[in-house]
Amino acid sequence: MAVDSALASPLGPPACEKDAKALRFIEEITRNADLVQERVLDEILSRNAEVEYLKRYKLDGATDRETFKSKLPVIKYEDLQPEIQRIANGDRSNILSAHPISEFLTSSGTSAGERKLMPTIKEELDRRQLLYSLLMPVMNLYVPGLEKGKGLYFLFVKSETKTPGGLLARPVLTSYYKSEHFKTRPYDPYNVYTSPNAAILCADSFQSMYTQMLCGLLERQQVLRLGAVFASGLLRAIRFLQLHWQLLASDIETGTLNNKITDPSVRDSVDEILKPNQELANFIRNECSNENWEGIITRIWPNTKYLDVIVTGAMAQYIPTLDYYSGGLPLACTMYASSECYFGLNLNPMCKPSEVSYTIMPNMAYFEFLPHEPADSFSGSTQKLVDLVNVEVGKEYELVITTYAGLCRYRVGDILRVTGFHNSAPQFHFVRRKNVLLSIDSDKTDEAELQTAVENATQLILREFNTSVVEYTSYADTNTIPGHYVIYWELLVKDSANSPTDVALSQCCLAMENSLNSVYRQGRVSDNSIGPLEIRVVRNGTFEELMDYAISRGASINQYKVPRCVNFTPIVELLDSRVVSAHFSPALPRWTPERRR
Ligand code: AMP
Repeated sequence: MAVDSALASPLGPPACEKDAKALRFIEEITRNADLVQERVLDEILSRNAEVEYLKRYKLDGATDRETFKSKLPVIKYEDLQPEIQRIANGDRSNILSAHPISEFLTSSGTSAGERKLMPTIKEELDRRQLLYSLLMPVMNLYVPGLEKGKGLYFLFVKSETKTPGGLLARPVLTSYYKSEHFKTRPYDPYNVYTSPNAAILCADSFQSMYTQMLCGLLERQQVLRLGAVFASGLLRAIRFLQLHWQLLASDIETGTLNNKITDPSVRDSVDEILKPNQELANFIRNECSNENWEGIITRIWPNTKYLDVIVTGAMAQYIPTLDYYSGGLPLACTMYASSECYFGLNLNPMCKPSEVSYTIMPNMAYFEFLPHEPADSFSGSTQKLVDLVNVEVGKEYELVITTYAGLCRYRVGDILRVTGFHNSAPQFHFVRRKNVLLSIDSDKTDEAELQTAVENATQLILREFNTSVVEYTSYADTNTIPGHYVIYWELLVKDSANSPTDVALSQCCLAMENSLNSVYRQGRVSDNSIGPLEIRVVRNGTFEELMDYAISRGASINQYKVPRCVNFTPIVELLDSRVVSAHFSPALPRWTPERRR
């Protein structure tokens, strides 16, 4: 490793000249964060001076912060829906951006049950690429020698659709993996993957996962890091291995790829590396047939130095399971990003998950911060927004962005807490996403969606069994892989001789699933990342006990409200100890890649 003192960076000695350049870049933009922000806003507003949206607010070509802040409202997705719909329907005039909208990125956040459509422009790919290019230079400061091996990353593309006006609508990572930026990336010894591009780009999730796992097994000694975007994805890969190791071992034994893999380019990509290897097949059979899967990751991939997965936010629920399978390998959360914009990176990626802070990169967009008071009754838009460099350590804010693609003062919905600064760029702990009650994978179910789902399901037992749901709460059960939603119901059965049957309650599970948003249903149907929804009927009086418990722990009896989601272990245990019957969704809910609107 070339560590030349001339290359030294305040972040640490870089591994090579390329890293030195990246680290210098981080230093430069974080030192001049405010100036960079001013320049970014000026650039966005000047190039978009003639677009319909900015003209509507009579910006008259002004590009300074004061005018911008005094004239433009802080908005949510729903406020932009008419403009987005026009673009989706084919209106090519400059509505939000002077640069043509190249495609829509489909967010895992939903509006009226459908994924939000985020407009994007071609050059945003360069910005995303730039952020990616900073990750390894930072990681190399903490983990030496990564150029001597490979990364086993489970990466997937998802289905894409076209809007009525012909624009592609697909997730941001699908857009990135299918771009030339990714497909024809130059060789970089620090960024070599075991997964062939063809496997990553294969739309069939079984074929893609199978091949990526196979290649990871074939090169198990070379694998130095293992990852997926989110923790749930890596656990899905482990589950896949549990289900399919026999097939994989037999391919390795014979040196021939299973004929379930039909995609010709995937077959070609494996041809080069798959040779009969009896010893490896025996090893895999031996490890995987063992009942005990504790530490399986380090047993199969013994040189793994860390797991590269996001375990902050909703993904924190998976930390114990990852620790179990990996024997406690470090978990590296490297970046914080969204469909709207990529935000920043973790400059200390080997820290504990609870200590992860993301440094916002001031060149990515113009950032503002809405002070967030937890039980605040004010409407957010009446509060003064704070600029990037002026946020205060210890305070919580909602992130508001103005992007090159044309979102102006857009509320992302993430709540962040300032933990410190790197130079003048603040570092944030991801606190939570607003209004998310339940999440297993990238699905985000809020209280209103759950309420509607319960109401819809209740109709099924109300009519036929004269039974109503007196109280309910929910729990994201991640003890199983994939995890699943559990809904606890306390029922009021009016005629005990005619109480709801298992069939009826199972149908209620399915009715709830059909009422949930499209990201949930896609997780169930297409990604297989969420298991069947379960209703656990609890005996009468359970929710009163729940209240007693809360009051015994200091809750006010006047203000007590049934929590619509529980995750505190004693409460889950109390509920589970009162369960009289459990029912699962008997079928997959409705889902097609096409949007309803
Ligand atoms: P999407 O637009 O579907 O890509 O979802 C983006 C959202 O995922 C963000 O707004 C966050 O709520 C969440 N997210 C992304 N990166 C992280 C991270 N590193 N830690 C926690 N949550 C994240």
